[in-house]
Formats: sequence, structure tokens, C-alpha cells
Amino acid sequence: MSNIQWCDITVNPIHLVKADGKHGGHWCHKISPGCTHCYAEAMNLSNYFIFASGLAYTGQVPENLVFSEIIMSKLVKMKKGERVFAFSMTDCFGDWVSVDWLDLAFAYMVIASQHTFQILTKRPERMPDYFRSAQEPIRKHVEDLRRKFKLPQSEFVWPIPNLWIGTTVENQESTKRIIHVLETPAAVRFLSCEPLLELVSIKKEWLDLIDQVIIGGESGPGARPCQLDWIRFMVNQCQRASDVAIFVKQLGSNPIQTACYIKGVATTYQKLKLKDKKGGSIDEFPEDLRIRQFPVPQKRFAIRQ
Ligand code: SF4
Repeated sequence: MSNIQWCDITVNPIHLVKADGKHGGHWCHKISPGCTHCYAEAMNLSNYFIFASGLAYTGQVPENLVFSEIIMSKLVKMKKGERVFAFSMTDCFGDWVSVDWLDLAFAYMVIASQHTFQILTKRPERMPDYFRSAQEPIRKHVEDLRRKFKLPQSEFVWPIPNLWIGTTVENQESTKRIIHVLETPAAVRFLSCEPLLELVSIKKEWLDLIDQVIIGGESGPGARPCQLDWIRFMVNQCQRASDVAIFVKQLGSNPIQTACYIKGVATTYQKLKLKDKKGGSIDEFPEDLRIRQFPVPQKRFAIRQ
């Protein structure tokens, strides 16, 4: 079970191995302001996390990174379908992730078709070329894996129907990532505007092609402020676009409310006091931000509006 509201579980087949062959934790490389307080790095540096490597998410690529088929195999054997956030502890389109690992990972996702997989990257510029040439290698892996797991051979559908592809948009600068997601063949495309660090404007013609936008303020120690009006502005843009599921995940640990006290002249900024320290309890959201929707291809349902 994950405490990320938009998925059910997380899976991390890429990890380090220790000299004794045991799981040695995770690694990634920070790339943008959205990475500053990376929760995955914090877990990886924590004494309380069983799979912590103790490595900061900087520096050289560790030599002992591996791709675990055992971890992916467990998903194939699960009966109940889940929303699976894959590679939550790293960036699967980082240049330390080989094409072979990606091919195999996506082939496992095809055969574990009871699940919906969600991948999120801050390096989407690698995706269009990769997915344009990956169809055949993934198809071959799928055939092999179906034999290995004694599953019936069935039609290979492309793009992978149970794979959602997304990128992070934390500030205006990072909106340039969106075009790469739009150029990637995908059944479902989503944006994660978390941590939302400023007012971000997205072209309507781009939002029209996006299936879901997740929005959230930063949480955790030292969380940067998130103005509720930034969240509201993003919600309003999505509502004006065509069929975008909106998922307001959290207001963050430092949510700021604005109030105009002399019309057109002066505005006050106040920290909103919430019981939930991540600002993730929907009951504490302002009425207009209580929106958590999921895209279903050609259809969507609202958990609560
Ligand atoms: S890309 Fe994601 S996992 Fe990697 S450092 Fe940035 S926030 Fe953390």
C-alpha cells in the first residue's frame, strides 16, 4: 500500500546490490528545482527505511545498480489489479537506465495486464525516440515472458494500454517537458504539478491532449510555500481544456492563502493551518479544490468532487 494518493502501490525493479547480493537501496540524480527536497532521497538516507542505500541523489552513477526480474515477477502473480507507480525511487529515463532494462520492464507491464502502471519522469526528452523504436523488442520479450509464466499468447497491443506516461511540471520552465510527452505514443498521458513552486501557465492545446493533471504543494521538512491560487489557476486551466481529469493531491506543508484587503491595492499572504501535516486531507481543502478524478480511456470517474 502506498501513501501516494494517486496510486495503490509502488514498485522499484532498479536498485543497488550489496556485496552479499542483498538489496542495497536506491539512487537517482537531481536535475531540477522539483528535486530539491526529493522524498525518495530522504527515504534512501533514512535509518528507518529498510531499503536505504545511504547515498545522496548526486554524483557518479553507482556501479552496483541492477534490474530485478524477481520484483517484476511478483506483479505478474498478483491476482488483484492495482494502480502501480513504477520506478517511484528513481527516474526511469535517467541515462543510467539502459534500453534493455526499459524493454524488459515494459514487457513485464504488458503481461501483468491486470495492473495499471504509472511512470513519471523529469527527463521526458528521451521518451519519444525510445518508444518509437521499442515496440519490436518489447513484443519479443512479451512472447518469451508469456512462455516463461505459462500465459496464453495473445495480441500485442501498442501503445501499451495499461501504461500511463507522465512528466513533472513544477514551474514555468519545466512546461517545456510537456511536448516530449505529447510526442510519445501512450494510452494515457499525465502531468504531475507537484511540488507546485509558482504560478504555471500551460497552453490549452497541450492540455487538451493530456488525460490527467495531478496538483500538489510540497510537503516535508523545509517545504517551500504553495499558494492556493497557484493550485486554483491550474485547476481552472484544466477545467477549460477538453476532458482533463484533475487530481488535487495535497495543499502541501506550507500552503499559503491570499486575501485582498484593499481591492486592487494590497494583498495579504497567510499560512493556512491544517491538521494533516502534508495538507493531503481532502476534507481540509477549500470546497472548490476538492477534486480527485482519474482518467479511464474514453471515460473517467470521480472519486469525490
Ligand atoms: S528525478 Fe525524481 S527521484 Fe530523481 S532526484 Fe528528482 S525527484 Fe528524486
